[in-house]
Amino acid sequence: MLIIFDLDDTLVKTSECITHILLERSLRAMVNKGFKVQGFCQALFLLRELNKQASSAEEALKEFVISMQEDCKFIPIGKEQLTEFTLDMPILPLELAVETLHLLKKKKHSLCLVTIGKNSLQRQKLEKAGIDPILFSKIIVSEDKNKKPHYERLLAEFAYNPTQVMVCGDRISVDLEPAMQLNCKTVHVLCGRGLSTKEKTSKAKITYRISNLVDLSDLKELR
Ligand SMILES: [Mg+2]
Repeated sequence: MLIIFDLDDTLVKTSECITHILLERSLRAMVNKGFKVQGFCQALFLLRELNKQASSAEEALKEFVISMQEDCKFIPIGKEQLTEFTLDMPILPLELAVETLHLLKKKKHSLCLVTIGKNSLQRQKLEKAGIDPILFSKIIVSEDKNKKPHYERLLAEFAYNPTQVMVCGDRISVDLEPAMQLNCKTVHVLCGRGLSTKEKTSKAKITYRISNLVDLSDLKELR
């Protein structure tokens, strides 16, 4: 099989390690510019809670500013901080992610990575999480949110039939819907954004849902 992975919250714990810190920096920047909060910690707690259910940190930030009845001019101030990922932040792989990738590779599956973001940052995340890029036959870092053309390209390049392709990701709309449109199999990883109620209760025709990456090696297609 050809297995195409997403990176953030599928192989590395982005929400837990990075977003958590970025939201704090974001709130701090807004407060420094005059955003009024009763207590910083309570406000941060609310922002992080909103983020758990939001489809992105940016969406959570907007919702937060509106719920605090503050001026929308603070949104870009906070948003600016959300992309300021710095290398002093710890980035951990998901439980047994590294081991699972090695196991799948040993079973002769082809592994690819399609991730959204800045090339250098995404590659640094891999490195910091201890995931060897050599495990992947191809790594695509896209600044554009549409993953479908990249999936199409991989299918053509590796000459796999869609039924022999499995796409793993935490976000249904971004990672899995384009894969469903191409008739690929899909694995919803219940981590990060994948844990939000909206994602968990989605009626989308997902092939599998897993809470731990190690469960991948038990799927009948990947045994
Ligand atoms: Mg993701």
